[in-house]
Amino acid sequence: TTTLKTPVTGPYEQPTALFINNEWVEGVDKKTFEVINPSTEEVICSVAEATEKDVDIAVAAARKSFEGEWRKVTPQERGRLLYKLADIAEKNTDLLAAVESLDNGKSITMAKGDVGAVVGCLRYYAGYADKIEGKTIDTNPDTFSYTRSEPIGVCAQIIPWNFPLLMFAWKIGPALCTGNTIVMKTAEQTPLSALVFANFVKEAGFPPGVLNIISGFGKVAGAALSSHMDVDKIAFTGSTLIGRTIMKAAASSNLKKVTLELGGKSPNIVFDDADIEQTISWVNFGIYFNHGQCCCAGSRIYVQEGIYDKFIAAFKKRAEQNTVGDPFDNNTFQGPQISQLQYDRIMHYIEEGKKAGATCETGGERHGDKGYFIKPTIFSDVTPDMKIMQEEIFGPVCTITKFKTEDEVIAAGNDSTYGLAAAVHTRDLNTAIRVSNNIRAGTVWVNQYNMLSHQSGIGRELGEAALANYTQNKSVSIRLAGPLF
Ligand code: ADP
Repeated sequence: TTTLKTPVTGPYEQPTALFINNEWVEGVDKKTFEVINPSTEEVICSVAEATEKDVDIAVAAARKSFEGEWRKVTPQERGRLLYKLADIAEKNTDLLAAVESLDNGKSITMAKGDVGAVVGCLRYYAGYADKIEGKTIDTNPDTFSYTRSEPIGVCAQIIPWNFPLLMFAWKIGPALCTGNTIVMKTAEQTPLSALVFANFVKEAGFPPGVLNIISGFGKVAGAALSSHMDVDKIAFTGSTLIGRTIMKAAASSNLKKVTLELGGKSPNIVFDDADIEQTISWVNFGIYFNHGQCCCAGSRIYVQEGIYDKFIAAFKKRAEQNTVGDPFDNNTFQGPQISQLQYDRIMHYIEEGKKAGATCETGGERHGDKGYFIKPTIFSDVTPDMKIMQEEIFGPVCTITKFKTEDEVIAAGNDSTYGLAAAVHTRDLNTAIRVSNNIRAGTVWVNQYNMLSHQSGIGRELGEAALANYTQNKSVSIRLAGPLF
């Protein structure tokens, strides 16, 4: 460990090693890498970097546990362990949130919200542990057939940096309640909160090898996991590009099962009859929450012609009022982007937008002179062929387009290679339902944005549906005693 300090917790012990078999180990090659504070661009500390050899050790630990001790743990006990883990996380909300703000740059109030959602997610899946059921199948009178819903086995999970703890919980909740074991690789930009969390896994009483947590790079540890011959399933959240790489690696190794949660370019549609003040708050939250670093960010805004001028003036004013700055200030809404790389990518898109002839209504530049802060940015006068309209920017940048009719906006909304989320703002229930039915997206919000619950989820994560990602059906067919046919 190393002793670190945050402005709200004072000094605390930050684990920096790899968490394998409920123990802290250095990597075989003793490699380390630096973790950067995105608000100050300074090094926070160094952590152990997992190589292929460490991945092998972690996978072997997960395998041993899956075939051994974890298999004997009853469903009720799995549920109890998850409840306990949730309780410990809840007790440590302030510490977890502070570490998250330090490492990721999100505001401390938002980070506390994330921890609350982590706790809720773990409790939600704890309740499912003893409700996993099979079926009996009526085949013929001489046979008794039934299905079992079994865990998949050793699951590799690779998560991004935008919600380090929340993505961690979304992944471990459904995987552990269904009886799998895990090797989790956190994002290289944000390894710290999961390492703090690892101590709670041990404290809750999970047997060794059930949940292994390693820090490391995608090209090394991530690639080793996705092509590993003894990993039964890989779950990934991140960019579309890497999602493809992972699916290829899975296909050309052992055909492990794959689930991917990738990018978005979600349409946020505002009709003339919407409550304008409410809608502006939701549209603002839809794009600028988490500094635009959300896969479901409402980045393509469509506003009907009758309120377009009024909307754009009010939205611009609202975006300019968002407080950008120190994540540890309770009044901050927007912190820095995660890294120099992301900062450069986003600024590049902004330049592209300007060059392509879009009007930058507000923002479009750096905030301050230290840290990766970007002002909330709005582009108007955009056309569908512009890069800023087509590609995921993953930053505080949105486009506004004027539309006339419902049919026109449905076609424009669906004109995307993505299909993660969408929203519609209207007082007319008929419009809301028609548009929701016709928009191609995994989640549609009406008169709100970004409101997730464990029950409904986003894409195919969360909810009861996520259990299917971590179970497989086995059918057993028994011939009953009787005369041979
Ligand atoms: P971003 O570009 O926003 O950082 P990525 O998709 O590259 O998003 O990263 C998401 C996660 O995927 C991180 O944990 C990262 O380490 C991991 N990753 C990156 N490249 C690979 C790869 N080739 N194989 C497996 N995992 C990877």
